Amino acid sequence: TLILGLESSCDETAAALVTADRAIRAHQLAGQEADHRPFGGVVPEIAARAHVEALTPLVEAALAEAGVSLADVDAIAATAGPGLIGGVMVGLVTGKALALAAGKPLIAVNHLEGHALSPRLADPDLAFPYLLLLVSGGHCQLLLVEGVGQYRRLATTIDDAAGEAFDKTAKLLGLGFPGGPAVEKAALAGDPKAVPLPRPLVGSGEPHFSFAGLKSAVLRARDSGLYKAEDIAASFQQAVVDCLIDRTRRQLANVEASALVVAGGVAANKAVRGALEALAADHGLRFVAPPQWLCTDNAAMIAWAGAERYKAGLFDDLDAPARARWPLDPNAEKARGAGV
Ligand code: ATP
Ligand code: MG
Ligand code: FE
Repeated sequence: TLILGLESSCDETAAALVTADRAIRAHQLAGQEADHRPFGGVVPEIAARAHVEALTPLVEAALAEAGVSLADVDAIAATAGPGLIGGVMVGLVTGKALALAAGKPLIAVNHLEGHALSPRLADPDLAFPYLLLLVSGGHCQLLLVEGVGQYRRLATTIDDAAGEAFDKTAKLLGLGFPGGPAVEKAALAGDPKAVPLPRPLVGSGEPHFSFAGLKSAVLRARDSGLYKAEDIAASFQQAVVDCLIDRTRRQLANVEASALVVAGGVAANKAVRGALEALAADHGLRFVAPPQWLCTDNAAMIAWAGAERYKAGLFDDLDAPARARWPLDPNAEKARGAGV
């Protein structure tokens, strides 16, 4: 089974070809960092236009890389949300057009399911259920992944996402865009104990995450003039790691899981990966993290989610909607109200 995956929900345009037995036959990606850098963040209108220009050439490049034609593909998997709606529409409409033209089934993939299942593309031995820490630009959640399409949300952020906190801190410290890798690099030259920063919700009886207070504390530390940017970056990163570990440890006591798994852009961070690996080891649990390129947005994870859905017989009609919001566990959202 060969699946073509398309991704365009934020500021990465990507196309990939992945087989059901985990062969990544093609992986094409065009970032838009240079387009957005002058604005210090992703501009939705610029992103949508860039996706329009980049996507079709990337699909052609992916087919050429794998040495196949559209006729050899078994299904087209396209991100249908959540994300910036203009970009999502570009990818989904392209996927629908290709599916229609080639007479192939469409699979409308939830971008978060792409992140959530990406560890299974990286590791053939990763079985359900697993405890997933999903840490990305728009999300910070703990999920029990019970199967394809079966996600139980155990915790989420009550304010900022983890990646958002990295991006805002980078901006406050003048480290540039995109923020996560810039903070990680600066942190290497800093002392994680230099700046006293809060650990919001650590030790709390509630399961959730919070990062807004940390961002305000970073602002105060910067304005105090007492600290080097590298020390603030290192101390911030350590505070985020401590929050992630505390909240994840709390869930390990509650769930039966085959492994502790991390995914999403922030999972590319070495300090985050290292701390989670040690936590898993403490609990005698396997730890699985996808390679760094598979953590940040890409189309291989969308093609892989497509392969998992294909195997489960989960296909979509050509009128599948593009969604700006699309929770993995709608029951949790209903139970607690929007956002939490
Ligand atoms: P979502 O997946 O929630 O819709 P997104 O697709 O924009 O959001 P991803 O591409 O999964 O997010 O991840 C991007 C985020 O990951 C950004 O916030 C970025 O700063 C962060 N990030 C990337 N690399 C690192 C790193 N090395 N350290 C910390 N954060 C990182
Ligand atoms: Mg991005
Ligand atoms: Fe993402």
